[in-house]
Amino acid sequence: MTIHHHATDETLMRYAAGDLDAGPARVVAVHLAGCPACSARLAQFEAVGGAVLEQMEPVPMAPDAFAAALGIIEAEEAGRAAPRKPAAARSSSGRAPSLLPGGIPIPAPLADCEFGPWRWIGIGVRASAVRLPEDPEARLTLLRVGPGRKLPEHGHVGTEFTQVLVGSFSDGYGRYLPGDLSEMGHEIEHQPIVDPEGECICLAALEGGMRLTGFFGRLIQPFIKL
Ligand SMILES: [Zn+2]
Repeated sequence: MTIHHHATDETLMRYAAGDLDAGPARVVAVHLAGCPACSARLAQFEAVGGAVLEQMEPVPMAPDAFAAALGIIEAEEAGRAAPRKPAAARSSSGRAPSLLPGGIPIPAPLADCEFGPWRWIGIGVRASAVRLPEDPEARLTLLRVGPGRKLPEHGHVGTEFTQVLVGSFSDGYGRYLPGDLSEMGHEIEHQPIVDPEGECICLAALEGGMRLTGFFGRLIQPFIKL
């Protein structure tokens, strides 16, 4: 698999720092699982982060600073454990399905998620809600769009992260194939069109949990009359 569209450096730095929302972090995790280039880049950022911490050591510290720092690190590790290693967390439970709705293999970073049924949200467009154990309010969505289908042109309040799992789509910025990650900033308006060869299944999340409902509403509004 040749990957042409990667995570931005800003996104990888924020992922390394645990600064991405739960939904986008999962989309990036799925991309990282299939992208050695971004995984290597992430390792560089994590190393830089470690070096910065080391440079901070000579600062005079209170007697209990080391213990306090360990406590902070352990707390952060605990908080990051779920999104960073979800497959390991539940791999032996046997509860995770091996296939997504539609029969496609489940990406390893989503192994501990629950998947809702495919729901029709417009002509040729279906969606499955993905529930994250670490943040049940997070909105992560599988979109399944028919060949040649056009999604409405839309802008975003936050950055939209879309990882292609099956098929391909194109917009004014490029063609996205399985393994590719599309990051569309809030200043960008684009109109994704699924390529005619077949349906496209992708994993999508929008940064800013409170705004996602609005985004999703705008996404489906042109298709259905409520
Ligand atoms: Zn990549």
